[in-house]
Amino acid sequence: MVVTRFAPSPTGYLHIGGLRTALFSYLWAKKNGGKFVLRIEDTDKARNSQEAADAILEAFAWLGLEHDGEITYQSQRDDIYKKYIEQLLNESKAYKCYMSKEELAELRETQMANKERTKYNGKYRDFDGNHPEDLEYVIRIKAPLSGDIVVKDGVKGDINFKAEDILDDFVIARADGAPTYNFVVAVDDALMGINEVIRGDDHLSNTPKQIIVYEALGFEIPKFYHVPMIHNSEGKKLSKRDGATDVMAYKEMGYTPAALLNFLVRLGWSYGDQEIFSIDEMLELFNPKDINKSASIYNTEKLNWLNSHYIKNTSNSELAQLLEPYGLVLTSHDKKEILLDELKDRAKTLKEMAVLVNEIIETPASYDEKAAKKAFKEGSIEILNAFGAKISSHEELHLPIDYHHIMEEVVNEMEIGFGKLGQPLRVALLGKMTGPGLDSVMAIIGKDETMLRIANAITAHTL
Ligand code: GLU
Repeated sequence: MVVTRFAPSPTGYLHIGGLRTALFSYLWAKKNGGKFVLRIEDTDKARNSQEAADAILEAFAWLGLEHDGEITYQSQRDDIYKKYIEQLLNESKAYKCYMSKEELAELRETQMANKERTKYNGKYRDFDGNHPEDLEYVIRIKAPLSGDIVVKDGVKGDINFKAEDILDDFVIARADGAPTYNFVVAVDDALMGINEVIRGDDHLSNTPKQIIVYEALGFEIPKFYHVPMIHNSEGKKLSKRDGATDVMAYKEMGYTPAALLNFLVRLGWSYGDQEIFSIDEMLELFNPKDINKSASIYNTEKLNWLNSHYIKNTSNSELAQLLEPYGLVLTSHDKKEILLDELKDRAKTLKEMAVLVNEIIETPASYDEKAAKKAFKEGSIEILNAFGAKISSHEELHLPIDYHHIMEEVVNEMEIGFGKLGQPLRVALLGKMTGPGLDSVMAIIGKDETMLRIANAITAHTL
């Protein structure tokens, strides 16, 4: 069974790059009928782990990504780590190192002066004399002194790390007993049964160290996929200036979960030149072996394009639900269908759409001065009056076409151009010159509200 994981270090929010590797891990596990588990890497005790986990869960819930089983918190696993450290000490695969900070600093300086790689010199590796009394010690693991550590990476191929160039006996427990990062990651991945690790390639240099831990503890090494970073259009690592990094900011901006997931799956993975992937299609087609070898480029236009696509292709009932967090409750609006159909093509984001909807369904409280000046000319009031009278004489007005016919009748009977009616009517209905088709607007707000808005505008512009 494929077991993947997402192992965020809590930063208070779910990072967009983290979400991408989480999505890849989720898809790969689910596609294979496996498990996708969550581990919060909160060994930095200064941070509040529950808050961090909550922020991540909130984002997962918004996106519809579900993790399996309980969340693992590294901060609660000290005893487990201690046990394995003891085991390595007992088996002489790790040892206590009493080197003082000063001694280490001196060693570093000498190595630098000799233009050598700075590394621990193994002083206590096979030490069997009497160690200095009362001195603090750290625990180091015995790394191989020669040979290669090969990371068999599913994205990048085999990567050889030469023991003598790269590795030294790194610390697995600090002087206060706290286990170190690479040690706990390897122990946790092994104990949690993770057999496929998909993560950012910024972790590649950690992998040989983690492999040393796996080997020392006799654990099976998982399959690794190191995913290239997301870059901005200048080829630099994505930063807050290029786009939001907090996943929930995308919700705030009005992106749909479907669009964001689609955007992310294509950042670094491709299937021919297909751009649109529903979650079901992702589940069917995703394979980490197709993850691109080079960095992917974040592109806001692409995200907006996808978002428009999903807004256009979402059913009105679902759209009404998606719009609720943006302050729009449309459940009982009887012209919801016309309204949403009318605006679906016009909005790039849900937030924009909510604004457009409100602009239609709320009676204008004021009129844009410039627009009113342009629209209200001599005769405008008379034209609006004529239009209002015709509307009030009709019993059945429902569809945009019904209103359209009346507009046509008025301009024909009065022998005027369409704009002579359209412009003041638009200002009367919407308070400004822009917005969707007036026939749709009137069908949405209905006859009574249309008449009210016309009357209001006439009052406001006859003084
Ligand atoms: N906690 C690490 C991070 O957030 C990820 C560790 C891993 O995936 O191995 O960058």
